[in-house]
Amino acid sequence: MNFTTHIAVGSAVGFATKNPYLGFAAGFISHQIIDAIPHIDPGSIGANFENIFQNKPALIWAVADITVGIFLFWFILNKVNFASFVFWGAIGGISTDVIDNSPFWSKKLCVIFPFNYIHFIHEKIHYTIENKKYFWVGILTQLILIFASLFVVFSY
Ligand SMILES: [Zn+2]
Repeated sequence: MNFTTHIAVGSAVGFATKNPYLGFAAGFISHQIIDAIPHIDPGSIGANFENIFQNKPALIWAVADITVGIFLFWFILNKVNFASFVFWGAIGGISTDVIDNSPFWSKKLCVIFPFNYIHFIHEKIHYTIENKKYFWVGILTQLILIFASLFVVFSY
C-alpha cells in the first residue's frame, strides 16, 4: 500500500490503543493486514527496491506519496496534540516498508534475521493490483481506509 495509507491507518490504530508501545505493535500489524487488501502502489507499475531509480513514473509516484504522507502525518499529529500513541502507531504502520522497501538498505537487510521473516511475510501477504483496468479498485480501497482512519483520529 501507499505510504500515505499506512500513515493514516497506523495513526488510527495507535489512537485506538492509547498506548505508545501497543500503538507501535498495532501499527506494525495493521501494515500486514491492509497490505492484503487489493491496492495499487509503485509496485503496480513494476517498481521494487532494486529498480525504483530506473523506473521514473514509479519514482515520481513514491516521492509524491511520501510527501503527501508526511503532510498528512503532520496534520494528524497537530490534530491530536502530538499524542505519542498516534505518533508510534503511524511509525509502526510505516516500519515494514521502511525496513523492506527502501532502495538504500532493504537488499542487505532482507537476508538478516529478523528482517528476513518480515520480508518473507511482506512478500507473501501483499495484494498489489497490476492490471490497469482495476486500478480504480486499488485507489478506492485506500481512500476508504484513509477516510475511515481520519474519522477515528478526528473523534479526539
Ligand atoms: Zn507494505
